[in-house]
Amino acid sequence: MTVVMDRPGVGGRFGEFGGRYVPESLIPACAAVEEAFRAAWADPEFHRELDGYRTTYAGRPTPLTPARNLSAELGITLLLKREDLAHTGSHKINNVLGQALLARRMGRSRLIAETGAGQHGVATATAAALFGLRATVFMGERDIERQRLNVFRMSMLGAEVVPVTSGSRTLKDATNEAMRHWVAAVDDAHFCLGSVAGPHPYPWMVREFQRVIGDEARGQCPDPDVVVACVGGGSNAAGTFAGFVDTPARLVGVEAAGGAAMSSGEPGVLHGSRSLLLQDEHGQVAEAQSIAAGLDYPGVGPEHAHLGASGRARYVTVTDEEVVRAVRRLAEREGIICALESAHAVAWVLRAAGTPELPTGSTVLLTLSGRGDKDVSQLMEGPR
Ligand SMILES: *Cc1c(COP(=O)(O)O)cnc(C)c1O
Repeated sequence: MTVVMDRPGVGGRFGEFGGRYVPESLIPACAAVEEAFRAAWADPEFHRELDGYRTTYAGRPTPLTPARNLSAELGITLLLKREDLAHTGSHKINNVLGQALLARRMGRSRLIAETGAGQHGVATATAAALFGLRATVFMGERDIERQRLNVFRMSMLGAEVVPVTSGSRTLKDATNEAMRHWVAAVDDAHFCLGSVAGPHPYPWMVREFQRVIGDEARGQCPDPDVVVACVGGGSNAAGTFAGFVDTPARLVGVEAAGGAAMSSGEPGVLHGSRSLLLQDEHGQVAEAQSIAAGLDYPGVGPEHAHLGASGRARYVTVTDEEVVRAVRRLAEREGIICALESAHAVAWVLRAAGTPELPTGSTVLLTLSGRGDKDVSQLMEGPR
């Protein structure tokens, strides 16, 4: 089956996945976001404005760095797409700049966001400060304890951080709470969702805002053999894959072994869309478990479920131990301390290089989704 990463089908479908499973009260709000996004995305003025902020504010285009030392050791050509060098330290800013500009076009004065590790919350707070919008960020109580630095950054940027005490007190619950809050504030607030998840049009819209990663990378390296990225909700991977889906490149998404919705999930509905998600034997959403807070999500974006089902992309897992080794090896060999999330992609390359999965001589384009500053204290403390 040929898969294109263009517009989703009717109702926001990617094959049998996607859709808009939200309470009646949110249908008009989702429709308004869809209509505004369609109009903006067809408007050259919107693109000019977004491109301006990408270059003069976010530091785009990000470079493609040849990892020369690791390449020599592994017998491959490894190229790193450096989203860690984007403003606020990860690819999250790409999505948030787009959505904040959209919110402004829609006349909204507030952004509502969910966050896990805090990277999306920080990016949202950043864009809100830049555009003079208020920001309310929902964050699980447990994540607040684990990610104090990002909580402080958000408050410095003027955002209100709302602790979520329900359920497992992590990202899944923060997302529920943010959506509930949006119901009550739809006239004034835009829900700035952080990944390619949620009800239509979010999976499509967020992928389009992240497509800049893949489009730039295609210009920097037109014909890699393998394109690899880590997958939490799947936004950095979706943006990267979008640039190469029509080439012969093999697409590989790397999940945390403890959060592997693509490998061990079952079809189900979470946060407004149908996709694959981790469930217990009663169909209850199971908790994900990863050393990287940004990959601690029991679901995955619906377009990945479709890319996996069609065979166009392949999804693999790596363990926490492999991830910690990968962070250290990349730091020692290349002088780059990457985020634990991004290190999942690195770990797979370290394992697969020289095997039939990744033969010697391959050219590998790897999206390094973020920098590791936020994780250094966790690594310093040793294994949890
Ligand atoms: C949030 C985050 C991720 C996971 O999100 P995706 O939507 O899967 O891209 C990965 N890496 C970093 C650095 C992040 O901050």
